[in-house]
Amino acid sequence: MKILVIGGGGREHALVWKLGQSAAAEKVWCAPGNGGIAGEAECLAVESGDVAGLVALAQKIEPDLTVVGPELPLVNGLVDAFAERKWAVVGPDKKAAQLEGSKIFAKEFLQRHNIPTAEIYGAHDSAGAAYGALCAVDWPVVIKADGLCAGKGVFVAPNPDAATDFIERVMEKNELGDGGKRVMLEEALEGEELSFILLTDGARYAALAPTRDHKRVFDNNEGPNTGGMGAYSSDDLLPADLRRIIETTIVGPTMRGLAADGIRYQGFLYIGLMLTKSGPKVLEFNCRLGDPETQAMLARVDFDLAEVLADTAVGKVQPEKLQWKPGASACVVLASGGYPGKFETGKAIHGLPEAEKIPDVKVLHAGTKRVGEQIVTSGGRVLGVTATGSTLGVSLQKAYDGAGKIRFDGMHYRRDIGKLQQSSAAGD
Ligand code: AMP
Repeated sequence: MKILVIGGGGREHALVWKLGQSAAAEKVWCAPGNGGIAGEAECLAVESGDVAGLVALAQKIEPDLTVVGPELPLVNGLVDAFAERKWAVVGPDKKAAQLEGSKIFAKEFLQRHNIPTAEIYGAHDSAGAAYGALCAVDWPVVIKADGLCAGKGVFVAPNPDAATDFIERVMEKNELGDGGKRVMLEEALEGEELSFILLTDGARYAALAPTRDHKRVFDNNEGPNTGGMGAYSSDDLLPADLRRIIETTIVGPTMRGLAADGIRYQGFLYIGLMLTKSGPKVLEFNCRLGDPETQAMLARVDFDLAEVLADTAVGKVQPEKLQWKPGASACVVLASGGYPGKFETGKAIHGLPEAEKIPDVKVLHAGTKRVGEQIVTSGGRVLGVTATGSTLGVSLQKAYDGAGKIRFDGMHYRRDIGKLQQSSAAGD
């Protein structure tokens, strides 16, 4: 099987790594890839949001299977373009990807199918209407930009001043681009957060190993939100009774709702949940795998990923094929100085071979590129040092040992990945 992976971050490096280990994989390409992926796959210079460019590329290289990492090509209709040509691809089509591409579409879907979620106060396409609506909400209120905003479109506003400021930035100053043209106001939920990620062909689904990520930049969940500073996976995260409740009250109705709406959802579906006192409620859907959760989750793969994804593309998910290494895994993200604010790039990275010499450690590249023989930084999140172990403690120890071998100018990372108790990780 010749496989094309689309994307160029840590999630895609993890996909390339595990697909490359598959007995069935004869060749792996990645578009556009990055400095680390280039060591394991042939990188092709097409940006991941460029549907026409990717169609032209696939026409030329003729992959047997294409796996889409990020949301943008999905929301832009890449899967529709591939499916029209009968090319095997893993990911939802444009309509199904609206579950992530429009928060209002997702909310209407949840309400239509009576799936537990936060109550909506209203959706507005002008700043004036949104300001006006603030006088009839309970505080805090959650404000969500409707469209894709690279993880910056949700704000839990503690008071009217903060809410007004966010609405102004999103709707009047267009700080988040077109994704902020409409906003939705919804009830703030309290509880512990959990993600439930599944792989589905539209009829059957397999739940993936449970993971949790850490979004704040500093230890103890301090500082601004980031794309994710680390993640871990351990079966303890999802006790069997909780899993049953989530499958009965959320996953089942979601699968049936999609079918009832005529949406055949194929690919990864990430369900962000709040475990409230009155049961799990949906915070959001993502139409793809999370980053860096994927790095931790795929480290535990004990099955042939290429085979399972090829099955998915032809509508034949077999849940029993997905087996996970027992124990746990962890991924610690090493970020550029200043991230998630302004940062410099082009810093030489040292110590990669030493980190990779540690047994069970894999350094997954996110924002790196190759300049001659040297790997240099090229993004905010630079590397995800990922390790497996018999327990969460062991995998964390190995990931941090690996992180300790790596150096680049300005590098910083959290020291408490996987260390918070579940209850205090809420809101992370
Ligand atoms: P989302 O992208 O919708 O998951 O939102 C990002 C983050 O905002 C979530 O992981 C939660 O921490 C928070 N959030 C979103 N919706 C709510 C809500 N209704 N109540 C409380 N927190 C929320």
